[in-house]
Amino acid sequence: MSAKILVVDDNPINLKLVSDVLEFEGHEILKAGDAEEAQIVLAGTLPDLILMDIALPGMDGLTLTRKLKAEERTCHVRIVALTAFAMKGDDQKALSAGCDGYITKPIDTREFPAQVAAFLQLIPSKINHESNQKSHD
Ligand SMILES: [Mg+2]
Repeated sequence: MSAKILVVDDNPINLKLVSDVLEFEGHEILKAGDAEEAQIVLAGTLPDLILMDIALPGMDGLTLTRKLKAEERTCHVRIVALTAFAMKGDDQKALSAGCDGYITKPIDTREFPAQVAAFLQLIPSKINHESNQKSHD
């Protein structure tokens, strides 16, 4: 399954690594180095998933997540936080801010595509809900 994914990370090495791994999987990748850039990208297109670094210069990833989840246009876009392993408690903070999940950095490049795919298949939409109901008939 190929998806459109926005990667938000101010570390250019992380941004490139995450993007390269997912591009290799066939996904369409959009990149942003901070919250402002992310909002400019999102004004033009809605991705299937946002991979959100938490520590960003200016507006941090949790604030941006709260903002996007509060807006009708962007509230359904799944957001997965990229949380640093060393930053204890960031996983819970990410979920409290409205993230649909989190992946711990540094990413394991062998596991990462499957981790992302798992989040892409979590479709909290009516279409999925209806097809689930049908399968129970
Ligand atoms: Mg960062």
